[in-house]
Amino acid sequence: MKTALVCGAGGFIGSHLVRFLREKGYWVRGVDRKLPEFSPTEADDFLVLDLRERENCEKALALDSGKPFDEVYQLAADMGGMGFIKNAECEIMHNSILINVNMISEAAKIGVKRYFFSSSVCVYRDMKHGEPMIDETAAYPALPDNEYGWEKLYSERMLQAFSRKYGMIARIARFQNCYGPDSSYEGGREKAPAALSRKVALTEDGGDVEIWGDGLAVRNFIYIEDLVRAVYMLMHSDLEGAVNIGTLENVTVRQLLQYTAEAAGKTVGFKSVDGPVGVASRNFAIDRITSIGWQPEYSLREGMKKTYAWVREQLIKNGQEVK
Ligand code: NAD
Repeated sequence: MKTALVCGAGGFIGSHLVRFLREKGYWVRGVDRKLPEFSPTEADDFLVLDLRERENCEKALALDSGKPFDEVYQLAADMGGMGFIKNAECEIMHNSILINVNMISEAAKIGVKRYFFSSSVCVYRDMKHGEPMIDETAAYPALPDNEYGWEKLYSERMLQAFSRKYGMIARIARFQNCYGPDSSYEGGREKAPAALSRKVALTEDGGDVEIWGDGLAVRNFIYIEDLVRAVYMLMHSDLEGAVNIGTLENVTVRQLLQYTAEAAGKTVGFKSVDGPVGVASRNFAIDRITSIGWQPEYSLREGMKKTYAWVREQLIKNGQEVK
C-alpha cells in the first residue's frame, strides 16, 4: 500500500485531497495545526502539529516502518482571500516560509520519493484587461503583486534546489482560485465564491450585495474536485517545473456574482465599497496540465450551484437568517 502525507489536511483543499487519496487506496496521514472544521477527517492517521517547527516536520514524516513516505503533499500555509493577503502579509511571510523551509529540507533528508507543493498564480505580475494569455515562464522576471506570491516563488525555488541535490521528485502546481464545499465562508479568510454565496444567501431577492471595488477585476476559478484530480495527475506525471492549474473561463467579479444569484434563484444588484481588490486581470495558459490528459469537468455555473447550496446549508445550521 502506498503511503501519503498531506500537510494542511485540516484545511479546504487538504481535506478533499485526503478523501481522494483514500479512495485511490493510499494509507494517508494528515497533519495540520487544527482538525477539519466542516466534516471529520478521512485520514488513516491525523497529527495536530505546528509545522513551523522543524521537530514537528520530523514527527509528521516519521512512519513506524522506518521507511519514508512515498508521497508528500504540502498544502499547509497561512492563507486567505484578498483581505487576508493584504492585512496579514507579515504572518504569511513568516509562517508559510518556516513551514516550507522545514518541510522541504526534512523530507529531502529522509528520502521522500515525491513531493508536491501548492503554489499560486499570485506568483505572476498584474495583467491588463484583454492582455494575451501568458504561460508559466512569465513568472520571471518576477513581480508578484503581493507578499503571498513572493513567498510562494521562493518556496518553489527552494523545493527545486533540494530536489536537484537529493533526487527527490518535485511537482509544483500554481493554483487559480479554488472553490467548493468545505471552504471558509466567513470570518476573514474566505475567498470570493464563498463570500459572495454567503452575502447572496443573506440578501433578499431584489436586494444589493456589497462587493469590493467596481467588480470589473477578471478572475479564474477552479472547482475543488477538478483541482484535486489535477494535483494527483500532476504528481504522477513527468512534468518538471511549475504547472498552472485552472480553467480557461475568465470572468469578472460581477459575473461571478451573477452566477451566484442564479444559483440562489434570486435577482441581486451590487454596491461597490472600498476594499482590497488585488490584481486587475488574469489570463493564464493551462497547456501544460492539459497535456497530461486533464480537463476541468465543472463550469463555473455548475460549481457555484454546489458551492452556494453548501454555504446556504451552513448558514442555516448556524442559525443565520437566510432570505
Ligand atoms: P486552507 O487555509 O483551507 O488550508 C491551509 C491549512 O494549513 C489550514 O488548515 C491551516 O490550519 C494549515 N496551517 C497553517 N499554518 C500551519 C502550521 N503552522 N502548521 C500546520 N498547519 C498549518 O487553504 P487552502 O485553500 O486549502 O489552500 C491550500 C494550499 O493551496 C495553500 O498552500 C494555499 O496557499 C494554496 N492555494 C490555494 C488557493 C485557493 O484558492 N484555495 C489558491 C492558490 C494556492
